[in-house]
Amino acid sequence: MLDCAIIGGGPAGLTAGLYATRGGLKNVTMFEMGMPGGQITQSSEIENYPGVFREGMTGMDLMEPWPHQCQHFGLKHEMKEVKRVSKSGEHFVLDIGSEQVEAKTVIVCTGSTPRRAGFEGEDEFFGKGVSTCATCDGFFYKNKEVAVLGGGDTALEEALYLANICSKVYVIHRREEFRAAPPTVERVMKNDKIELILNASIDRAFGDAMGLTGLDIVFKDGTAPRTLDVPGVFVFVGNNVKNQVLIQEDGSFLCGTNEQGEVIVDLKMHTNVPGLYAAGDMRIEAAKQVVCAASDGAIAGMQALEHILEQA
Ligand code: FAD
Ligand code: NAP
Repeated sequence: MLDCAIIGGGPAGLTAGLYATRGGLKNVTMFEMGMPGGQITQSSEIENYPGVFREGMTGMDLMEPWPHQCQHFGLKHEMKEVKRVSKSGEHFVLDIGSEQVEAKTVIVCTGSTPRRAGFEGEDEFFGKGVSTCATCDGFFYKNKEVAVLGGGDTALEEALYLANICSKVYVIHRREEFRAAPPTVERVMKNDKIELILNASIDRAFGDAMGLTGLDIVFKDGTAPRTLDVPGVFVFVGNNVKNQVLIQEDGSFLCGTNEQGEVIVDLKMHTNVPGLYAAGDMRIEAAKQVVCAASDGAIAGMQALEHILEQA
């Protein structure tokens, strides 16, 4: 029986493992289906993780030492996908395909993935002009023109953020009405640096070996197509929370989730099931930053430790 099972080996999972093992838990395993590091390893440049700035540092560079540090304190890594976690009496059972693993506590850190919009060239130029993170990549377009796709709160809030950095922001949205909160829409409307392109969608993203150079825009109402010469487009069309491990045989979730499927936790990363914690991008109101995911993981690791000590 594991003292603690951690599902997911991104910044949240690794930091949970570090704090749980260094705090004294002996029997802690992190299940990460790929190489540890999480989604930030896809990033070609990270410059906002405090204290480790170096020009040209990639997400892979940032994450490379993390597993070594965790293993030093005794964290075990199993390169396996967890299919489901469920409750059995006082304990949890992890279904990992051919076998089942029991654990006293579980920290779920499976992250979320920004949804793709599905236009031509989106995958080809992802990370080379197509981005899903303005906080991460906005600075690369300082004083340049960029586009934002989407009409929700994220798209409009990020468009306002980008308007502080970029010379112009085109907001491309498929309808005339916005899903975003009215005060945010009002701020966008009043911003001179933002141009709204409505009833529109991106038909194609194009570029060269260096990256994106532009977008072909088409309109629903028959308006003539338009080309935007932009080196960056930010796609904010919602997120898919990776919560599949929490779905039980009858389709219900093991713990409380909101309408988007994000796990409801309190400030100590507790779900409504004792001994079960969620940390990082998959939890409600996550800031979706490496430093925040790591912080969540640290809190969850300490809470798992406390739970085990209380039961002893
Ligand atoms: P993740 O990093 O998503 O890790 C979750 C892990 O769980 C994954 O490794 C996955 O393989 C694993 N997993 C999922 N399901 C299972 C399962 N069933 N069984 C086993 N393993 C599973 N943030 C910044 O702070 N600065 C940046 O500059 C920045 N740039 C970014 C650029 C890009 C292109 C992207 C995509 C994100 C960027 N982010 C950035 C956001 C940052 O990467 C995330 O906020 C952070 O990685 C979230 O950490 P996490 O541990 O919650 O989840
Ligand atoms: P969202 O509310 O789901 O909005 C997604 C937007 O993308 C919608 O405008 C949608 O258009 C558009 N879209 C979806 N698929 C598309 C596609 N394939 N091509 C083009 N456009 C597409 O997502 P979100 O903005 O990330 O917000 C998620 C949740 O977090 C929401 O509940 C939101 O309120 C909340 N949130 C709150 C705040 C805040 O309170 N400050 C900030 C950020 C997010 P349609 O409108 O036509 O469907």
